[in-house]
Amino acid sequence: MSRWIIVSNRLPFHFDQKSNKVVQSSGGLVTAIKGIKTKNEVVWLGTADHSLKKINLNNLAPDSKTSYSPIFLPQDLYNSYYNDFSNDVLWPALHYEMDRVRFIEEHYENYRKVNQIFAKKIASICKKGDLVWIHDYHLFLCPKLVKDLVGNKVKVGFFLHVPFPSSEVYRQLTPRREILNSLVQSDLIGFHDFSYLRHFSRTVYDILGFSTKQMSIKTDSGLTTLGVFPVSIPSKDIQKRSRAKKVEGEINRLFSKRKSSDLLILGVDRLDYTKGIPQKLLSFERFLEDNPDYVGKVQLLQIAVPTRVDVAEYQDLRSKVERKVGEINGKYGKINYTPVKYINKSISLEELLALYRKANILLVSSLRDGMNLVCLEYVMAQEENNPGVVMLSEFAGAKATLSHAISINPHNILGTSKKIKQAFEMHIVERKARNKIMKDYLLGYDSSHWAEDFMKALSHQGVQKMNNANNIEDKNYIVNLKKLFKNKSRTIFLDFDGTLAPIVSNPDSANASPVVFRLLKKISKCSNLIVVSGRPESFLKERLRGIDCDMAFEHGALYFDRSQNKVRNLVSTNKSKWYSEALKIIQSYKNRTPNSTIEKKNYSIAWHFRNSPSDYGEFQGRNLVSDLRGCFQGLPVSVILGKKVVEIKSSEANKGRFLEWYLDRNLEEDSVLFAAGDDRTDEDMFEVLRDKGITLKIGRDSKTKAQFFLENQSDIQKVLESLFL
Ligand code: UDP
Repeated sequence: MSRWIIVSNRLPFHFDQKSNKVVQSSGGLVTAIKGIKTKNEVVWLGTADHSLKKINLNNLAPDSKTSYSPIFLPQDLYNSYYNDFSNDVLWPALHYEMDRVRFIEEHYENYRKVNQIFAKKIASICKKGDLVWIHDYHLFLCPKLVKDLVGNKVKVGFFLHVPFPSSEVYRQLTPRREILNSLVQSDLIGFHDFSYLRHFSRTVYDILGFSTKQMSIKTDSGLTTLGVFPVSIPSKDIQKRSRAKKVEGEINRLFSKRKSSDLLILGVDRLDYTKGIPQKLLSFERFLEDNPDYVGKVQLLQIAVPTRVDVAEYQDLRSKVERKVGEINGKYGKINYTPVKYINKSISLEELLALYRKANILLVSSLRDGMNLVCLEYVMAQEENNPGVVMLSEFAGAKATLSHAISINPHNILGTSKKIKQAFEMHIVERKARNKIMKDYLLGYDSSHWAEDFMKALSHQGVQKMNNANNIEDKNYIVNLKKLFKNKSRTIFLDFDGTLAPIVSNPDSANASPVVFRLLKKISKCSNLIVVSGRPESFLKERLRGIDCDMAFEHGALYFDRSQNKVRNLVSTNKSKWYSEALKIIQSYKNRTPNSTIEKKNYSIAWHFRNSPSDYGEFQGRNLVSDLRGCFQGLPVSVILGKKVVEIKSSEANKGRFLEWYLDRNLEEDSVLFAAGDDRTDEDMFEVLRDKGITLKIGRDSKTKAQFFLENQSDIQKVLESLFL
């Protein structure tokens, strides 16, 4: 069974000065991870206070299979990494608050340093086969650093506990590339919500240019899988604890003086600008204004857990909230009635569970929230026969999990106030039904399921192999291959541009050198030669006139059979559904991109940007790919980004498909097969010839499926000559 190495910024303990004891820390991440029950051995790695240096933390572990591996950082370094970079740059940026970002190079340097310390520690404890699970934005640089140190000895998963913003926001971050380049080295990246995954995937595509599918990213070093794993809570445990005697005691203590007609709205948030506490207060104020019947009966109890108290921005937020609380209480309060009760402290679990049980409404008004666990806990604490109602911001990740919460837009003050009324007036039958559905979900998917799901996906993740293609010019490869081909029937598939002809800035002038041309003539006399190209018939026939070979044009959409001197059409699908529309879109890109050109073929349209300003061309190329893919989803076309070219083509126009068709009909038994090519489209040929023939990629490419590679196209003549003559 694999060991789980769980890595988070902090271990879940701190030293409490008041009680002079080590106590468990609170917070969403800690709640989720602490709730995991697993049979696997777990090592939890994170920073710890220096005051814990002399304490054996393993004595605090819940079982013998769990141990802790603390990292003790110098306080200055920790502050710079944690407060100044993680919380002053990453936190606001990831929550769409770019105006609050304060980027200072030196702090990022310290962030990098701490991530290096983490990576070294991970490398020092991990063994082959371990699953390393890195948590959250504090450790963005760890995946790559760990992979650099230990390679594929372990699998690395990364889970983001906060939102991933739209690419338009993320790309404002200064170290945007380094962070993404690290994350994509993970084997698996998990998000709470599909929208975060979609944003991430789009951002990787926009910034790094890697080809991304909905659930995976192809990088230079392999494939990274993306997944949605909404975090959960230890549901049963919360349910059980909310019924405990101590909680009953708290309920008596806190609520014995209340009348049965009194109503309670509860808010439990860290006092952070992402939580929308001012908006919550405004909505409550509006509710009182519009519903005078409720004045005197309803109270909003806001627990505002202090966080980052020494930061000016948080102090301002506190003043703003407290001012508003005072205003509402001044306006609507009576001697025996306080409309808003505001508590700027964290409270004990028993008190919290008592409040959950007695509150008629839990109001979560986050402006952005990765998940929000408070609302899940509230659902589990509700009494079956008289449950309360959850009002949940549509900007919290939990919205996808709590299907039967009342959804609110916290910016819409009037809308929220109306929904408060709706919640109070909700019939008991509906309240019960809603609560049951959400409770059942949480019982079936708790924090242990969350972790199991993630780790199962991580362990099933095939460790991505780096390219193991061999340099054909190394060792005795050429000599041995020559022996393989000698005196045998040979079928040779060769790509044209980038393989037989060098890539040139004007595609119309591409041509094989006279030496290569003469060589092809010779080879065609003793081998079955097929040139497989994306080029149209007229071009290729003209370039290869005098060579006795078959030809496949337009990636195999059309086939020239020299024995019959005839061109056959191999595409059966109708192109009218996409061709002219695609041309219009491509035309608009051509108009906006200097020096780009369009090449129209029968079954494909290529847009070349070899001569356009390089960065802009690549940028436009990626946008065009995503526009075309979006527009023609579900139609039999494929869109590819090649070397300085975007091409949309009938999906039947595929070199791999052509090879299959060709080999099916024409293959002489015991013919030895060979294919060479330089582009993405040639990978389809390599795939078909896997285990069937020899494949050669022109250029170094870690993703290639070919067995061999040749560094420089200019050496192709040497290789072909050695192999086949
Ligand atoms: N919590 C706590 N003490 C408090 C208030 C809250 O321990 O006084 C816990 C709460 O039970 C929940 C966590 O803190 O498990 C808050 O998680 P959430 O995801 O809602 O917000 P975060 O603080 O992670 O943004």
